[in-house]
Amino acid sequence: MADFKVGGNIDGWCTKCKLVLAHTIEALAGSDVKRVCCNTCSGKHQYKAHPPGTKAVKTARFAAAPKATSYAALLETHNDTEAVDYSFQAKFLLGALLRHASFGLGIVTADRGGNKIEVLFPAGPKILVHAQA
Ligand SMILES: [Zn+2]
Repeated sequence: MADFKVGGNIDGWCTKCKLVLAHTIEALAGSDVKRVCCNTCSGKHQYKAHPPGTKAVKTARFAAAPKATSYAALLETHNDTEAVDYSFQAKFLLGALLRHASFGLGIVTADRGGNKIEVLFPAGPKILVHAQA
């Protein structure tokens, strides 16, 4: 735990420079740094240890994670469906189960039009062509 004192230096988020920079401590409340002066732009503002929006980035990262889970869940609901070997000539409907030579077992999750379908594979979604006469 650093020993903060008025006039000391602390790294924090500058609300004007939009960067984590060295600041001079101007006011303390107990052991909490309250007000700082930016050593770069001389702006005085409330002390912020981290840039704003750090939490939002973390949330976005979590939101991207359940992809694999949804694939497993989708596969479970299509367990009794017969998987058809993928061929660009065959026509696949939404929710159809197909077996691709390189990507493995996939589920048609969207019809993109123009003979394109979005298929969810264990490695992620892929766009495939189908119904090509
Ligand atoms: Zn600044």
